Amino acid sequence: MADGAGMGRDGTEGDAVALDEGVWQIDLGFRGRRGVIAAYLLVDVGGDLTLIESGPTTTLPALRAGIRAAGFDPARLTSLLLTHIHLDHAGAAGVLARELPGLVVRTHPVGAPHLVDPAKLVASASRIYGDRMDDLWGEVASIPAEQVVALADGETLSVAGRPLAALFTPGHASHHVAFWDAARGTVYTGDVGGVRMAGTGYVCPPASPPEVDPEAWAGSVARLRALAARRLCLTHGGPFADVEAHLDGLLPNLAALRELALAELRAGADQTALTAAIHAHVAAALGDAGPDALENLEWATPSYLAAAGLTRLLTKRGEV
Ligand SMILES: [Zn+2]
Repeated sequence: MADGAGMGRDGTEGDAVALDEGVWQIDLGFRGRRGVIAAYLLVDVGGDLTLIESGPTTTLPALRAGIRAAGFDPARLTSLLLTHIHLDHAGAAGVLARELPGLVVRTHPVGAPHLVDPAKLVASASRIYGDRMDDLWGEVASIPAEQVVALADGETLSVAGRPLAALFTPGHASHHVAFWDAARGTVYTGDVGGVRMAGTGYVCPPASPPEVDPEAWAGSVARLRALAARRLCLTHGGPFADVEAHLDGLLPNLAALRELALAELRAGADQTALTAAIHAHVAAALGDAGPDALENLEWATPSYLAAAGLTRLLTKRGEV
């Protein structure tokens, strides 16, 4: 089907949009909302399926329904590519790998061991999300080591009959990978390409803890820019074709958030006050996009996470 929705066997309505030949955007319906978290489905001529991002376990029914809505059987998944291991991108990888023993999961070599043994990942996320861990993300299962493959920077995979290059792109996370489909002019940006809600112009850099690194991020944006892509496919927000304008906004918007956090913290703001200031800043940046876009953006990249991430950055750099 070219576009739209179909009812999955578990009763969840699937949301799949065809982006290109053999490429589908699957909305994961996170928190019952459209446009917050997406996965991308790449389909081989032989019918083998590759996913870029799994989303969290809480949205697995929507992922499966979306694959079915696109006209495919989720049991044909053979390959999962993860831009990084944060739970909103990769949380369901372990459950998927358990269901599908033939599934191979590929990610950055620094992230790969945490898929095999997610204890540290879960502990770190629990410090951030506390008792909301299960409600937000669901089960985080370990993946048998033989199902996990570490990517190399610049490595070109053959996916859905086309080459797909893995580009190490730190900044949001040190272990971040973007995937570049040169034939289709499409780059799957994970979080390094920012977060942007459909129909809006504001590109929000997800400044979540613990690893935000503005200088590394700038290097990664330069790397993305050099691709001269025709389309950016964001995990949080979907595809965008105004590639240059989008990338132009990312680093200045990160700098603005950092300046805001610096001023607030130096004026004595606590995390609650800084979170409110960031939320107000983001709301103003979105302009008249409407409350839905603002709420979706908050679910995709919460202000309290940016507050924590920027506080950590500025403290580490000795600026506060
Ligand atoms: Zn992330």
